[in-house]
Amino acid sequence: MSLRNFKALRLDAMSRDFGSLNALKGITLNVERGEFIALLGPSGCGKSTALNCLAGLLPLSSGAIWLDDKRIDTLGPEGRGFGMVFQNYALFPHMTVRKNIGFGLRMQNRPKDEIARRVEEAMRLVRLTNQGDKLPGQLSGGQQQRVAIARAIVVEPPLVLMDEPLSNLDAKLRLEMRAEIRRIHASLGCATIYVTHDQDEALSLADRIVVLRDGQTRQIGTPAELYGRPAHSDVAEFMGYRNIVKTAAILGEHLEVTIGGAKLWGTSVDIVASGDALAAIRPEDLSVTADGPISAIVQTAEYRGRDFFGVALTQDGTELYFRSEVSVSQGEAIRLSAEPHRILVYAA
Ligand code: ATP
Repeated sequence: MSLRNFKALRLDAMSRDFGSLNALKGITLNVERGEFIALLGPSGCGKSTALNCLAGLLPLSSGAIWLDDKRIDTLGPEGRGFGMVFQNYALFPHMTVRKNIGFGLRMQNRPKDEIARRVEEAMRLVRLTNQGDKLPGQLSGGQQQRVAIARAIVVEPPLVLMDEPLSNLDAKLRLEMRAEIRRIHASLGCATIYVTHDQDEALSLADRIVVLRDGQTRQIGTPAELYGRPAHSDVAEFMGYRNIVKTAAILGEHLEVTIGGAKLWGTSVDIVASGDALAAIRPEDLSVTADGPISAIVQTAEYRGRDFFGVALTQDGTELYFRSEVSVSQGEAIRLSAEPHRILVYAA
Protein backbone atom coordinates (compact mmCIF):
# COMPACT_ATOMS: atom_id res chain seq x y z
CA MET A 1 0.00 0.00 0.00
CA SER A 2 1.51 3.33 -0.96
CA LEU A 3 0.11 6.54 0.44
CA ARG A 4 2.91 8.54 -1.13
CA ASN A 5 0.89 9.98 -3.99
CA PHE A 6 -1.81 11.36 -1.73
CA LYS A 7 -3.41 14.70 -2.63
CA ALA A 8 -4.21 16.03 0.83
CA LEU A 9 -3.81 15.29 4.51
CA ARG A 10 -6.81 16.43 6.50
CA LEU A 11 -6.96 16.98 10.24
CA ASP A 12 -10.59 17.02 11.27
CA ALA A 13 -11.09 18.49 14.76
CA MET A 14 -8.03 16.58 16.03
CA SER A 15 -8.18 16.57 19.84
CA ARG A 16 -6.10 15.05 22.59
CA ASP A 17 -6.68 15.18 26.35
CA PHE A 18 -4.33 14.27 29.18
CA GLY A 19 -6.74 13.60 32.02
CA SER A 20 -8.63 16.84 32.49
CA LEU A 21 -6.13 18.84 30.41
CA ASN A 22 -7.27 19.48 26.83
CA ALA A 23 -3.84 19.66 25.17
CA LEU A 24 -5.32 19.83 21.63
CA LYS A 25 -8.77 21.31 21.22
CA GLY A 26 -10.06 20.45 17.78
CA ILE A 27 -7.31 21.25 15.26
CA THR A 28 -8.66 21.38 11.71
CA LEU A 29 -6.22 21.72 8.83
CA ASN A 30 -5.80 20.71 5.19
CA VAL A 31 -2.28 20.01 3.97
CA GLU A 32 -1.59 19.43 0.30
CA ARG A 33 1.15 17.17 -0.97
CA GLY A 34 4.26 19.28 -1.52
CA GLU A 35 3.39 21.75 1.21
CA PHE A 36 5.75 22.71 4.03
CA ILE A 37 3.75 23.51 7.15
CA ALA A 38 5.24 24.97 10.33
CA LEU A 39 3.44 24.47 13.64
CA LEU A 40 4.49 27.50 15.63
CA GLY A 41 3.70 28.48 19.19
CA PRO A 42 5.05 29.03 22.68
CA SER A 43 6.10 26.23 25.01
CA GLY A 44 3.17 24.07 26.10
CA CYS A 45 0.80 25.13 23.29
CA GLY A 46 0.50 21.54 22.04
CA LYS A 47 2.96 21.40 19.12
CA SER A 48 4.64 18.13 20.10
CA THR A 49 1.32 16.58 21.05
CA ALA A 50 0.00 17.42 17.57
CA LEU A 51 3.06 15.88 15.93
CA ASN A 52 2.87 12.74 18.06
CA CYS A 53 -0.83 12.37 17.21
CA LEU A 54 0.04 12.66 13.52
CA ALA A 55 2.82 10.09 13.82
CA GLY A 56 0.54 7.61 15.55
CA LEU A 57 2.52 7.68 18.81
CA LEU A 58 -0.47 9.15 20.70
CA PRO A 59 -4.09 8.17 20.07
CA LEU A 60 -6.62 10.96 19.53
CA SER A 61 -9.25 11.65 22.18
CA SER A 62 -11.64 12.72 19.42
CA GLY A 63 -11.58 13.87 15.81
CA ALA A 64 -9.96 12.16 12.84
CA ILE A 65 -6.99 12.27 10.47
CA TRP A 66 -7.48 11.52 6.79
CA LEU A 67 -5.08 10.91 3.94
CA ASP A 68 -7.37 11.56 0.97
CA ASP A 69 -10.35 9.29 1.67
CA LYS A 70 -8.45 6.90 3.94
CA ARG A 71 -8.88 7.38 7.66
CA ILE A 72 -5.44 6.92 9.23
CA ASP A 73 -5.76 7.92 12.90
CA THR A 74 -6.88 4.36 13.60
CA LEU A 75 -3.57 3.01 12.23
CA GLY A 76 -0.42 2.57 14.30
CA PRO A 77 2.86 4.35 13.45
CA GLU A 78 3.99 1.54 11.08
CA GLY A 79 0.70 1.58 9.20
CA ARG A 80 1.09 5.29 8.52
CA GLY A 81 4.76 5.02 7.64
CA PHE A 82 5.56 8.69 8.23
CA GLY A 83 9.16 9.87 8.61
CA MET A 84 10.08 11.38 11.97
CA VAL A 85 13.03 13.65 12.82
CA PHE A 86 13.48 14.69 16.44
CA GLN A 87 15.66 17.29 18.10
CA ASN A 88 17.85 14.63 19.72
CA TYR A 89 18.80 12.77 16.57
CA ALA A 90 18.20 9.38 18.27
CA LEU A 91 20.72 7.58 16.02
CA PHE A 92 21.96 4.09 16.88
CA PRO A 93 25.47 4.83 18.20
CA HIS A 94 26.94 1.40 17.38
CA MET A 95 25.70 1.39 13.76
CA THR A 96 27.49 3.08 10.87
CA VAL A 97 25.83 5.95 9.06
CA ARG A 98 24.89 3.58 6.25
CA LYS A 99 23.35 1.05 8.68
CA ASN A 100 21.46 3.80 10.51
CA ILE A 101 19.97 5.13 7.29
CA GLY A 102 19.07 1.66 6.04
CA PHE A 103 17.36 0.63 9.27
CA GLY A 104 13.78 1.28 8.14
CA LEU A 105 14.29 -0.51 4.83
CA ARG A 106 15.76 -3.56 6.62
CA MET A 107 12.70 -3.58 8.89
CA GLN A 108 10.61 -3.72 5.70
CA ASN A 109 12.69 -6.72 4.54
CA ARG A 110 13.67 -5.01 1.31
CA PRO A 111 16.17 -6.82 -0.95
CA LYS A 112 19.81 -6.02 -0.15
CA ASP A 113 20.65 -4.38 -3.46
CA GLU A 114 17.58 -2.14 -3.25
CA ILE A 115 18.56 -1.09 0.30
CA ALA A 116 22.11 -0.31 -0.82
CA ARG A 117 20.86 1.77 -3.76
CA ARG A 118 18.28 3.74 -1.76
CA VAL A 119 20.70 4.40 1.11
CA GLU A 120 23.27 5.77 -1.35
CA GLU A 121 20.57 7.99 -2.88
CA ALA A 122 19.49 9.30 0.52
CA MET A 123 23.11 9.97 1.49
CA ARG A 124 23.60 11.92 -1.72
CA LEU A 125 20.42 13.93 -1.05
CA VAL A 126 21.58 15.00 2.42
CA ARG A 127 25.17 15.43 1.17
CA LEU A 128 26.77 12.71 3.26
CA THR A 129 28.35 10.69 0.44
CA ASN A 130 31.73 9.30 1.70
CA GLN A 131 30.58 9.37 5.34
CA GLY A 132 28.73 6.05 5.14
CA ASP A 133 31.25 3.98 7.13
CA LYS A 134 31.56 6.38 10.06
CA LEU A 135 29.81 5.99 13.39
CA PRO A 136 27.47 8.80 14.55
CA GLY A 137 29.98 9.77 17.27
CA GLN A 138 32.52 10.63 14.58
CA LEU A 139 30.21 13.21 12.98
CA SER A 140 29.40 16.85 13.78
CA GLY A 141 25.97 17.79 15.13
CA GLY A 142 24.86 19.02 11.71
CA GLN A 143 26.03 15.81 10.03
CA GLN A 144 24.23 13.70 12.65
CA GLN A 145 21.04 15.61 11.98
CA ARG A 146 21.50 14.92 8.25
CA VAL A 147 21.75 11.20 9.04
CA ALA A 148 18.51 11.47 11.02
CA ILE A 149 16.84 13.19 8.06
CA ALA A 150 18.18 10.61 5.60
CA ARG A 151 16.91 7.80 7.84
CA ALA A 152 13.46 9.41 7.89
CA ILE A 153 13.20 9.99 4.14
CA VAL A 154 14.80 6.82 2.79
CA VAL A 155 11.54 4.90 3.23
CA GLU A 156 9.86 7.51 0.97
CA PRO A 157 7.20 8.53 3.47
CA PRO A 158 4.13 10.52 2.35
CA LEU A 159 4.66 12.87 5.27
CA VAL A 160 7.81 13.94 7.10
CA LEU A 161 7.33 15.14 10.67
CA MET A 162 10.05 17.22 12.29
CA ASP A 163 10.08 18.27 15.95
CA GLU A 164 12.48 21.19 16.52
CA PRO A 165 15.18 19.36 14.56
CA LEU A 166 17.66 22.24 14.66
CA SER A 167 17.43 23.30 18.28
CA ASN A 168 20.60 21.46 19.33
CA LEU A 169 22.74 23.08 16.65
CA ASP A 170 24.70 26.33 16.88
CA ALA A 171 23.40 29.46 15.16
CA LYS A 172 25.51 29.15 11.99
CA LEU A 173 24.69 25.47 11.46
CA ARG A 174 21.04 26.17 12.10
CA LEU A 175 20.97 28.60 9.22
CA GLU A 176 22.76 26.17 6.91
CA MET A 177 20.48 23.29 7.85
CA ARG A 178 17.36 25.41 7.31
CA ALA A 179 18.35 25.85 3.69
CA GLU A 180 19.16 22.13 3.46
CA ILE A 181 15.81 21.09 4.90
CA ARG A 182 13.99 23.32 2.45
CA ARG A 183 16.04 21.90 -0.44
CA ILE A 184 15.45 18.29 0.66
CA HIS A 185 11.72 18.95 1.07
CA ALA A 186 11.51 20.39 -2.44
CA SER A 187 13.31 17.45 -4.00
CA LEU A 188 11.15 14.86 -2.18
CA GLY A 189 7.79 16.26 -3.19
CA CYS A 190 6.11 14.94 -0.03
CA ALA A 191 4.55 17.09 2.70
CA THR A 192 6.53 18.26 5.72
CA ILE A 193 5.13 19.29 9.08
CA TYR A 194 7.71 21.08 11.16
CA VAL A 195 7.34 22.02 14.82
CA THR A 196 9.16 25.08 16.11
CA HIS A 197 8.85 27.86 18.64
CA ASP A 198 11.19 30.03 16.56
CA GLN A 199 9.30 32.49 14.36
CA ASP A 200 12.32 33.14 12.09
CA GLU A 201 12.61 29.45 11.40
CA ALA A 202 8.89 29.20 10.61
CA LEU A 203 8.99 32.30 8.39
CA SER A 204 12.00 31.13 6.41
CA LEU A 205 10.93 27.50 5.95
CA ALA A 206 7.20 27.22 5.64
CA ASP A 207 4.68 27.66 2.84
CA ARG A 208 2.08 28.10 5.56
CA ILE A 209 2.36 28.64 9.30
CA VAL A 210 -0.14 27.36 11.84
CA VAL A 211 0.07 29.38 15.06
CA LEU A 212 -1.10 27.38 18.05
CA ARG A 213 -1.96 28.63 21.49
CA ASP A 214 -3.41 26.63 24.40
CA GLY A 215 -4.13 23.71 22.09
CA GLN A 216 -6.07 25.83 19.60
CA THR A 217 -5.35 27.26 16.18
CA ARG A 218 -5.00 31.04 16.43
CA GLN A 219 -4.13 31.74 12.82
CA ILE A 220 -3.17 29.89 9.64
CA GLY A 221 -1.42 31.88 6.97
CA THR A 222 1.55 32.39 4.69
CA PRO A 223 4.74 33.78 6.24
CA ALA A 224 3.99 37.18 4.66
CA GLU A 225 0.49 37.24 6.14
CA LEU A 226 1.71 36.32 9.59
CA TYR A 227 4.60 38.76 9.48
CA GLY A 228 2.68 41.69 8.07
CA ARG A 229 -0.87 41.16 9.27
CA PRO A 230 -1.27 38.99 12.37
CA ALA A 231 -4.99 38.46 12.97
CA HIS A 232 -4.85 38.86 16.77
CA SER A 233 -2.72 40.92 19.12
CA ASP A 234 -1.32 37.82 20.88
CA VAL A 235 -0.22 36.41 17.50
CA ALA A 236 1.33 39.82 16.73
CA GLU A 237 3.25 39.73 19.99
CA PHE A 238 4.49 36.23 19.22
CA MET A 239 5.49 37.29 15.69
CA GLY A 240 7.82 40.02 16.95
CA TYR A 241 5.51 42.98 17.52
CA ARG A 242 7.16 43.62 20.85
CA ASN A 243 5.32 46.84 21.56
CA ILE A 244 1.70 46.11 22.46
CA VAL A 245 0.33 49.38 23.83
CA LYS A 246 -3.09 49.91 25.39
CA THR A 247 -4.77 52.88 23.77
CA ALA A 248 -8.08 54.48 22.94
CA ALA A 249 -8.78 54.20 19.21
CA ILE A 250 -10.75 56.95 17.49
CA LEU A 251 -12.21 55.86 14.18
CA GLY A 252 -12.76 58.75 11.80
CA GLU A 253 -11.36 59.39 8.35
CA HIS A 254 -8.15 57.95 9.79
CA LEU A 255 -7.74 55.61 12.75
CA GLU A 256 -6.15 57.61 15.55
CA VAL A 257 -4.34 56.07 18.51
CA THR A 258 -2.43 57.59 21.42
CA ILE A 259 1.00 56.19 22.17
CA GLY A 260 3.11 57.68 24.95
CA GLY A 261 0.85 60.75 25.01
CA ALA A 262 1.26 61.40 21.26
CA LYS A 263 -1.45 61.07 18.62
CA LEU A 264 -0.59 58.83 15.68
CA TRP A 265 -2.42 57.25 12.76
CA GLY A 266 -2.58 53.50 12.69
CA THR A 267 -4.05 50.68 10.59
CA SER A 268 -7.10 48.80 11.75
CA VAL A 269 -6.93 45.02 11.83
CA ASP A 270 -10.33 44.39 13.37
CA ILE A 271 -11.52 47.77 14.70
CA VAL A 272 -15.09 48.56 13.69
CA ALA A 273 -15.82 51.39 16.14
CA SER A 274 -13.94 53.79 18.43
CA GLY A 275 -13.02 52.28 21.80
CA ASP A 276 -10.38 50.48 23.81
CA ALA A 277 -7.68 49.06 21.60
CA LEU A 278 -4.19 47.58 21.44
CA ALA A 279 -1.58 49.06 19.13
CA ALA A 280 1.14 46.65 17.95
CA ILE A 281 4.46 47.92 16.61
CA ARG A 282 7.72 46.10 15.83
CA PRO A 283 10.84 47.63 17.40
CA GLU A 284 12.37 47.97 13.91
CA ASP A 285 9.35 50.04 12.80
CA LEU A 286 9.72 52.51 15.67
CA SER A 287 12.52 54.76 14.57
CA VAL A 288 14.41 57.63 16.14
CA THR A 289 13.79 60.82 14.14
CA ALA A 290 14.34 64.49 14.96
CA ASP A 291 10.66 65.41 14.57
CA GLY A 292 8.97 62.17 15.74
CA PRO A 293 5.69 62.73 17.63
CA ILE A 294 6.56 60.51 20.62
CA SER A 295 9.03 61.90 23.12
CA ALA A 296 10.82 59.46 25.39
CA ILE A 297 13.94 58.93 27.48
CA VAL A 298 16.34 56.08 26.62
CA GLN A 299 16.47 53.50 29.41
CA THR A 300 18.89 51.03 27.83
CA ALA A 301 20.58 50.83 24.46
CA GLU A 302 22.56 47.87 23.15
CA TYR A 303 24.86 47.97 20.16
CA ARG A 304 23.82 45.21 17.72
CA GLY A 305 26.34 45.71 14.94
CA ARG A 306 24.02 47.11 12.27
CA ASP A 307 22.13 49.33 14.70
CA PHE A 308 21.17 49.88 18.32
CA PHE A 309 18.36 48.08 20.12
CA GLY A 310 16.86 50.15 22.90
CA VAL A 311 14.10 50.59 25.43
CA ALA A 312 12.68 54.08 26.01
CA LEU A 313 10.19 55.37 28.55
CA THR A 314 7.55 57.97 27.64
CA GLN A 315 6.20 60.57 30.03
CA ASP A 316 3.05 58.55 30.68
CA GLY A 317 5.16 55.54 31.67
CA THR A 318 4.88 53.52 28.44
CA GLU A 319 7.93 51.35 27.71
CA LEU A 320 8.77 51.23 24.02
CA TYR A 321 11.25 48.92 22.27
CA PHE A 322 12.93 50.57 19.31
CA ARG A 323 15.82 50.20 16.85
CA SER A 324 18.08 53.09 15.97
CA GLU A 325 20.67 53.49 13.25
CA VAL A 326 22.20 56.43 15.09
CA SER A 327 23.98 55.96 18.39
CA VAL A 328 21.79 56.60 21.43
CA SER A 329 22.75 56.37 25.08
CA GLN A 330 21.06 55.90 28.41
CA GLY A 331 19.28 59.01 29.72
CA GLU A 332 19.11 60.68 26.30
CA ALA A 333 15.87 62.39 25.25
CA ILE A 334 14.73 61.06 21.86
CA ARG A 335 11.74 61.33 19.54
CA LEU A 336 10.18 58.26 17.97
CA SER A 337 7.90 57.79 14.99
CA ALA A 338 6.22 54.95 13.10
CA GLU A 339 4.47 54.85 9.73
CA PRO A 340 0.66 54.41 9.92
CA HIS A 341 0.83 51.06 8.07
CA ARG A 342 3.36 49.81 10.66
CA ILE A 343 1.02 50.46 13.59
CA LEU A 344 -1.50 47.62 13.68
CA VAL A 345 -4.55 48.30 15.84
CA TYR A 346 -6.68 45.57 17.42
CA ALA A 347 -9.90 45.88 19.39
CA ALA A 348 -9.06 45.26 23.06
P1 ATP B 1 7.35 22.63 24.04
O1 ATP B 1 7.66 23.65 22.99
O2 ATP B 1 7.74 23.06 25.40
O3 ATP B 1 7.80 21.24 23.68
P2 ATP B 1 4.68 22.01 23.10
O4 ATP B 1 4.01 23.14 22.43
O5 ATP B 1 5.29 20.96 22.25
O6 ATP B 1 5.72 22.57 24.14
P3 ATP B 1 3.25 19.84 24.30
O7 ATP B 1 4.47 19.08 24.69
O8 ATP B 1 2.48 19.35 23.15
O9 ATP B 1 3.59 21.37 24.07
O10 ATP B 1 2.29 19.92 25.59
C1 ATP B 1 0.99 20.49 25.54
C2 ATP B 1 0.37 20.39 26.90
O11 ATP B 1 0.11 19.02 27.22
C3 ATP B 1 1.25 20.90 28.03
O12 ATP B 1 0.43 21.54 28.98
C4 ATP B 1 1.88 19.65 28.59
O13 ATP B 1 2.19 19.82 29.95
C5 ATP B 1 0.78 18.64 28.40
N1 ATP B 1 1.31 17.28 28.19
C6 ATP B 1 2.09 16.86 27.18
N2 ATP B 1 2.37 15.55 27.25
C7 ATP B 1 1.74 15.10 28.37
C8 ATP B 1 1.63 13.83 29.00
N3 ATP B 1 2.22 12.76 28.49
N4 ATP B 1 0.91 13.76 30.13
C9 ATP B 1 0.29 14.85 30.64
N5 ATP B 1 0.34 16.07 30.09
C10 ATP B 1 1.06 16.21 28.97
